[in-house]
Parts: sequence; structure tokens; C-alpha cells
Amino acid sequence: MDQQMDAVVFVALGQYEITTRPIPHINNSNDVLVKILAASICGTDVHILHNPPGVIANPGIILGHECVAEVVATGQAVKAYRPGDRVVADNNLPCGTCPACLSGNANLCQNITSMGVHIDGVFAQYAVFPDTALVKISPDVPIEKAIFAEPLNCVMGAMKKLKVMPGDTVLVLGGGPIGQYFTGLMKASGAGKVLVSEISDFRAEFALKQGATRVIRPDREDLLAAVLEETKGVGADIVIDAVGVLINDALATVKNGGSILLFGMNANARQEIAQNTITARGLTIYGNFIGLNTLYNTVNTLENNVVDFENLVTHKLALKDFAIGLEAMQKGQAMEVVLYPFE
Ligand SMILES: [Zn+2]
Ligand SMILES: [Zn+2]
Repeated sequence: MDQQMDAVVFVALGQYEITTRPIPHINNSNDVLVKILAASICGTDVHILHNPPGVIANPGIILGHECVAEVVATGQAVKAYRPGDRVVADNNLPCGTCPACLSGNANLCQNITSMGVHIDGVFAQYAVFPDTALVKISPDVPIEKAIFAEPLNCVMGAMKKLKVMPGDTVLVLGGGPIGQYFTGLMKASGAGKVLVSEISDFRAEFALKQGATRVIRPDREDLLAAVLEETKGVGADIVIDAVGVLINDALATVKNGGSILLFGMNANARQEIAQNTITARGLTIYGNFIGLNTLYNTVNTLENNVVDFENLVTHKLALKDFAIGLEAMQKGQAMEVVLYPFE
């Protein structure tokens, strides 16, 4: 019989179980078997386990996609990795052959397979990745810093598009984990002011720790008035919607000629917008989905302490205590929940 490992498995609508599964094998010559040193719970995991689900996953798969891992064994064609290497990973596996992949947009691959959504993920003691999904990270980077690589990589994809100028005023709509990463990265990239709009006290405090100049509380004060006050009446150079339903707030607060980046995802949201405002005010609107060739830069960002999100870690739990972490995430009482499969 195969050796067994602990795993968190998606069962059906809103249900999961903590169980055992066989330790996975190397099947392809470019496969890498890794030991999961730590994994973290993402909003995506919460969406999968929501009923009705915000993200559709395949029943029976091992959940989880954010991890720090150590290489245990490699397939015969693997050249870049040896047992003992510390790695982080991009869980989104492009097919490599569709028109999007062939034109350099692998993040938009029409056959993309996401570990922890479509196939087995990392809420387990071991996982198998293709070598192309991994990047080495120095073991000197504490695990609780390195764990941010995967979500940060998605935000780095957006940073690549935005081209922030030193001194820019950036407005981040939403102070969840993604809003926090944008805040830290924008400060590190030279933004003059980073304004964060957030209604939760819990999240507002983290945003200030991350370097936000001001947290605007749209439930208690007028968002537009606050932005105009901070920008000499001009509006923000860049507005980021980290929620997924706030394009109208973004249109109201961005300066003429400014840029809006839509990052948060809500497949059911529909907004009525005055399209002419984009045309007449010369606005640029970007959408961004996950990272694209940014994981290497993301690792350099973490290794060189350009940003440090370690203070966002609110929970450190054994994998078997997944329920505690999930509940804290569902209630908005957690920022980053780190799970340790060997505790
Ligand atoms: Zn994630
Ligand atoms: Zn493809």
C-alpha cells in the first residue's frame, strides 16, 4: 500500500474533510515531489467552500494552492531543482499550446489547470508540481514571509501594467489581503500617498501598518471628498478595485487621464457605468488576472525585503486545525492564516 499523508479534501458543496491520501508519485519526467512546509488559506479557498460556491472546484481534490515547500525528489528531466531546495510555486498550470499560451499570455490560457481547484493542491504534507511552476527561494527568507509568494505574484502581474510614477497618489479600494499587498508594493514603488478605502476596523489597522497614508472609511465619510482633499482637488493618479464591484467609485475618484485597475473578482457583479466619462476624461482601465512571468520578480521582492507582509499573519495553525482558520477567514477575522502540515 502507498504511504499515506494528511490532506484537506474538497467533498461537495460547502463540504470538506480532513483525511489521509496516498503520498503522490512522480508521473512525468518534469515532475517535482515537494514536502509542504507551510500553506496558507486564500480567499479562493473560502469561495470554493461557500454554498453557493464563488469558485467551482472538482469534488475529491486536495484543496489549497499557496505554499512554501522543499524538494524531495525530481523526475529525470528536471535540471533546475535538487532535493532540499526551498521553493514557492504558481499553482496555475497553462497548457502551453493554446493561442493564448502561444502568444505569451499563459495567464489567459483557455485550458488552464489550477492546483487546489481542478486538481490536487497543497493542503497536504506532499504535492507534485511540474518544474515549470516552481521558483527557488532562499531558505534565509522566513517561511512566514515566503508564504506570500503566490498571492503577491498575482498582484505583481497588475503592478507590471500600472507603471506607478514616484509621488503618485494611489487609491486602493478594499483593505483585504490583496489591498494590503497593493498598499505595500505601491509604497515600495515610490507612491507619494497610498489611500485605502475600507469599512472594517480590523483591516484598517493592518493597512496603516502596511504604510497607508490614510484609511478612508466610506461608511462614515465621503470617499470622493476625502480623495479630493488628499489630492489638491485633482483625484487619484491610480485607483485599484481590490473588491470587484467598485468601478463606479474608481471612476468617481480617479483624476482626468488617470488609470484604473480592476483586480477583485465577482463573476455575478453588474454595474451601470457612464461610458462617456472614460472617453471624455481620457481614462485608462486595466483588468488583470493572476501573474504573468512575475514569480521570479516576486521572489526577488521577498528575498530583498522590498516588502514585508509577515505582520499580516494572524493565525499559525496545524493543518488539522484547518477549520479554525477557515472560520476566521469566513468571518473576516483573519488576514493571513498559515497552516503547517507537519505539526
Ligand atoms: Zn491564492
Ligand atoms: Zn494554454
